[in-house]
Amino acid sequence: MAIEKKNRNSIPEQAPEVRAHNFEEVALGFDAALAQDEASRCLNCKNAPCMKGCPVGVRIPEFLALVKEGKFEEAGNVIKSTNSLPSVCGRVCPQEEQCEKNCIRARIDGAVSIGGVERFVGDFMLSLPPRSHKIQKTGKRAAIVGSGPAGLTCAAQLAAAGVDVTVYEAFHKTGGVLVYGIPEFRLPKKLVGAEVDKLKELGVKFSLDTVVGKTVTIEELQQDNDAIFIGSGAGLPMFMGIPGENLNGVLSANEYLTRVNLMRAYDSNAATPVMHGKNVVVVGAGNVAMDAARTALRMGAETVSIVYRRGREEMPARKEEIRHAEQEGIKFVLLSNPVCFEGENGWVNRIKCIKMELGEPDASGRRSPVEIKGSEFYIDADMVIVALGTSPNPLIKDSFDKLQTAKKGILVVDENMMTSVDGIYAGGDAVTGAATVILAMGAGRKAAKAILERFGIKESNN
Ligand SMILES: Cc1cc2nc3c(=O)[nH]c(=O)nc-3n(C[C@H](O)[C@H](O)[C@H](O)COP(=O)(O)OP(=O)(O)OC[C@H]3O[C@@H](n4cnc5c(N)ncnc54)[C@H](O)[C@@H]3O)c2cc1C
Repeated sequence: MAIEKKNRNSIPEQAPEVRAHNFEEVALGFDAALAQDEASRCLNCKNAPCMKGCPVGVRIPEFLALVKEGKFEEAGNVIKSTNSLPSVCGRVCPQEEQCEKNCIRARIDGAVSIGGVERFVGDFMLSLPPRSHKIQKTGKRAAIVGSGPAGLTCAAQLAAAGVDVTVYEAFHKTGGVLVYGIPEFRLPKKLVGAEVDKLKELGVKFSLDTVVGKTVTIEELQQDNDAIFIGSGAGLPMFMGIPGENLNGVLSANEYLTRVNLMRAYDSNAATPVMHGKNVVVVGAGNVAMDAARTALRMGAETVSIVYRRGREEMPARKEEIRHAEQEGIKFVLLSNPVCFEGENGWVNRIKCIKMELGEPDASGRRSPVEIKGSEFYIDADMVIVALGTSPNPLIKDSFDKLQTAKKGILVVDENMMTSVDGIYAGGDAVTGAATVILAMGAGRKAAKAILERFGIKESNN
């Protein structure tokens, strides 16, 4: 059957020259008419290839059909039955690598903007008045460590099924990377707050400023609970281990983004300001690097450069983030790697780099970068942000050594997300290493299912 061509609707955005100087959201989102028009592009394929690309199996053609008819709340209920944070996922999921990659229209006139429509529906659901939940209590109690997407998803599933849930969070705000990592201009914090409020409506309790392993021990949580879920993420930054990394002005992306996002360092009256770099270099090319670079630009930097040892094709960040960064004026210094950081009076002032070329593929299948002898060059920089990945923080494991860990301190779990300790489950970045929001949510959901099975309780769609 011939497919009638109908181009993909683009999501309206703030102009690059305007948004580069503010922290307001870059993508403005579809309104109802655009969302309905975009949903009407779905071909409702019999075998729904889009769904196969979604790690949590959202029933995509079904929700798109409801949006097309203007039934937004019904569409929201379909999404929410497998994905509890649609307004978040609609914004940050790598749809181009997942659902939209498999869309039949991708090869014809552009994949249906599934993420764009999901975002619209997610925001619509958040605008509805609070629902009253009649949940029958089961008498079971669970502790959740960490309030990132893994912990929040697990908490929502358990609470909806009548489990008494308390989430323990080290920071003073809930949301994990959604609040301390991903900047406001990609994911407004009020949305994460609204999602957390929905959990409170389900009866979930939050214990903030509580570091499990310090403020409260795992043994204490075991005494008070029938099950524990650890969703403590991967917040320990990796460094390069090259000379000059200890100079002032060299910091991890994690620290920089946390200070700006969570401690309001962009506000000069905030209690914990952050350094304002003039010539900023970010090392790395993942989402974290793009976020750090675009944040530095908004904090007033005159030049911001991304230094990456591989080429454009190999950059791990989402294509959309790379496009946005380029439009805003971030420079890309590709096939180049820092050799050392140099400085004066303890402060960094330039980076010595070396040019690279791509050699044979490595274990990851990507071609390895190889140094080109004698090709050293310098970039002036009064601030360097290292964004080379993170691994799980060893604090919980060090305070409770019964938990088995593997390479880089990731927690070992079985097929039901249970750790080496009976009744203690784990998921998200703490188990996979730094990954994605949707995978963390999928893990939280799977663990909740296993915990409910352990308790002999039926899952709820509340
Ligand atoms: C800057 C940045 C940008 C990103 N962009 C994207 C993107 O665009 N799309 C995408 O899909 N993914 C993105 N990611 C990855 C994604 O955010 C993570 O994969 C996801 O948040 C992992 O969820 P989690 O629940 O496992 O952990 P986290 O979100 O890290 O949450 C863990 C929580 O546990 C808390 N915690 C840790 N230890 C303890 C303890 N001992 N006691 C109590 N609490 C503790 C932490 O404070 C934190 O709040 C990005 C990550 C970063 C850092």
